[in-house]
Amino acid sequence: MNRRNFIKTLGGSLIASSAVLSACKKQQSSSESILTDIRQPEQGTMTYRTHPQSGDQVSLLGYGMMRLPVVGNGSARDNQSAEIDQEMVNRQVDYAIEHGVNYFDTSPRYCQGRSEQATGIALSRHRRNKYFIATKLSNFSWDTWSRSASQQMFRDSLRLLQVDYIDYLLLHGVGMHAQDAQGNELTGWQAFEKRYMENGILDWLVEQQKQGKIRHLGFSYHGDIEVFDRLLQWHDEGKYHWDFVQIELNYLDWNYANEINARNTDAEYLYDELQKRNIMSVIMEPLLGGRLAKVPDFVVAKMKTRRPEDSIARWAFRFAGTPEKVLTVLSGMTYMEHLRENVQTYSPLQPITSEENEFLMEIAKDIYNLKAVPCNECNYCMPCPYGLNIPAIFGNYNKMLNEGYTPQPPDMQASSKEQKEYFARRRKFLISYNRTVARERQADHCIGCNHCVPHCPQRINIPAEMARIDQYVESIKRIGGNNI
Ligand code: SF4
Ligand code: SF4
Repeated sequence: MNRRNFIKTLGGSLIASSAVLSACKKQQSSSESILTDIRQPEQGTMTYRTHPQSGDQVSLLGYGMMRLPVVGNGSARDNQSAEIDQEMVNRQVDYAIEHGVNYFDTSPRYCQGRSEQATGIALSRHRRNKYFIATKLSNFSWDTWSRSASQQMFRDSLRLLQVDYIDYLLLHGVGMHAQDAQGNELTGWQAFEKRYMENGILDWLVEQQKQGKIRHLGFSYHGDIEVFDRLLQWHDEGKYHWDFVQIELNYLDWNYANEINARNTDAEYLYDELQKRNIMSVIMEPLLGGRLAKVPDFVVAKMKTRRPEDSIARWAFRFAGTPEKVLTVLSGMTYMEHLRENVQTYSPLQPITSEENEFLMEIAKDIYNLKAVPCNECNYCMPCPYGLNIPAIFGNYNKMLNEGYTPQPPDMQASSKEQKEYFARRRKFLISYNRTVARERQADHCIGCNHCVPHCPQRINIPAEMARIDQYVESIKRIGGNNI
């Protein structure tokens, strides 16, 4: 599109936005309290972004409630028996609000179905005009596709969150594949039709928005780009209006998402498509599931040379928060220290300069060239019917790769120094693998059944990656045997 057409399109979408705004105001006249409820930020230095239609002042740091703290060990996200530490959730939510964070993002699916309740308990101790709640219609499973089951999911969200309206409601994970009751795999578009169209739920949600029970309607996107494009086409045609869209954005995915996995789309494309329609982006995976906080040692050295005081994670958060049409950047913060650091990063944001942007694009190239598995350990693929611990296998492999412990077996001409180095690294890899993943749950037990593949939002070809890791492990076992 040339510049003239681009400006024309932008102008058109701005006019459309104003029309929607006035329509929206009319719709909400019966809910005056909502309209007068445009949040005033807490005193402090947090950076805020303004929603162009509602005028909401949203903190650039959004609190993702998917990795809540637990009593003792374990992970609330993955394990139903790990007890959520409600007292700590309350304290962290209090700290966040005191420091200007006002966007809290949850889902009926997070923390094994317990996040909304814990979030509701913590937030209901504050005045309703101090926070925005984002939650999702997470009807992934075929037994929640009926109209009544999906409606019940929305009503349960209101009840558990102890509110009578949701500020930001998302269709959850559009574009992802799904399995129907017979076990057939559905494409992203087929799944979208089953989850939101055939049951009339999208129209019902629009109705809820008119009644003031939803203030902004949007979707979170992972997967088939066809679905993202079609939903934006509907927006252009006026069939449905999206107030915001949640996308994965970080400095690696900006230009390499598609290179890493041909089924994924670069964040630059997603963001540009939204910003030219004046649709605000909510950012997920600013750290790519923690991978961008655990970058290889040589990358750490480069970053520390430029900004010695900054953590590695801060670079990624600054990148994600810099584009102007980013409404908020979500971070799932289990520990107070992460919350404190992220609050600091955005109080206020120091935008990435163009020179720093070039530097991060070079860093992205370095990380891409390592060929790590793009797993963010979300656990959606679990359980594997054959007992594999998929996220742990990928997590360990990536960690070893980052730390330089994935040596290639030496050739016949290798010096004794090189051989010694190989054996030391090989030992480190194998010890770590066996400690992290029980032997009967390792990559060699994958039978390639494909059961896990449709569940992966990163669209990883899991059996192929298992085969790659298994081949690697076998190759280093061949040179050195089973001795560690
Ligand atoms: S393809 Fe492999 S990892 Fe995936 S479910 Fe089947 S056995 Fe498990
Ligand atoms: S393989 Fe995919 S679904 Fe499984 S943990 Fe990794 S990113 Fe999540």
